[in-house]
Amino acid sequence: MRQLRWPVAAAAAVSLALALEALPAALRWLWGGRRRRRRREVLFFPSQVTCTEALLQAPGAPAGAPAGCLCGLPHGESSLSRLLRALLAARASLEICLFAFSSPQLGRAVQLLHQRGVRVRIVTDCDYMALNGSQIGLLRKAGIPVRHDQDLGYMHHKFAIVDKKVLITGSLNWTTQAIQNNKENVLIMEDEEYVQLFLAEFERIWEEFNPTKYTFFPQKDRSH
Ligand code: ZN
Repeated sequence: MRQLRWPVAAAAAVSLALALEALPAALRWLWGGRRRRRRREVLFFPSQVTCTEALLQAPGAPAGAPAGCLCGLPHGESSLSRLLRALLAARASLEICLFAFSSPQLGRAVQLLHQRGVRVRIVTDCDYMALNGSQIGLLRKAGIPVRHDQDLGYMHHKFAIVDKKVLITGSLNWTTQAIQNNKENVLIMEDEEYVQLFLAEFERIWEEFNPTKYTFFPQKDRSH
């Protein structure tokens, strides 16, 4: 009897210890399943200048910091790296509505998504897109559809929608000047109501800027 009781007691103790250890995780799982926190994040700029190479590696490249990155920059998180992460989470679609887009890092992120098969569409302002350093030409060349205004008022929005699920909006133009020098804010929020409103606005502008409606060329030129 005595010989048997000890192994049984030991097994029971071990089981109890394991159960107790698993309890917090189980509770978190139950709790999280019922009340998953929707994403709410605010980024403030100027951003610390950090290396973003690891985030922007081409598909197929090994994950993590690139081996032997000797760039000398810090390799931690920054407002820019968080913004990049939010964009790179896209799996199906990305709508971008921006007055100015010249940041090479954000340009690379958008090209990466395009390469991964994410449906990217860009709306921008015709005055800024032609300036030196604008990413718009490169993105167009990569095959990403871009539409722009043709009137006097600026297309001054600064928002993006990831997978029709997450809205990214704020004061920030996607330029290195703004990212590194300006005081700016960017809200990242998973909010169905706001996403639907911004998506509707994007679709409205997308149609308004349909190239078939452009009237750059005066009528008399067309008759030649
Ligand atoms: Zn680096």
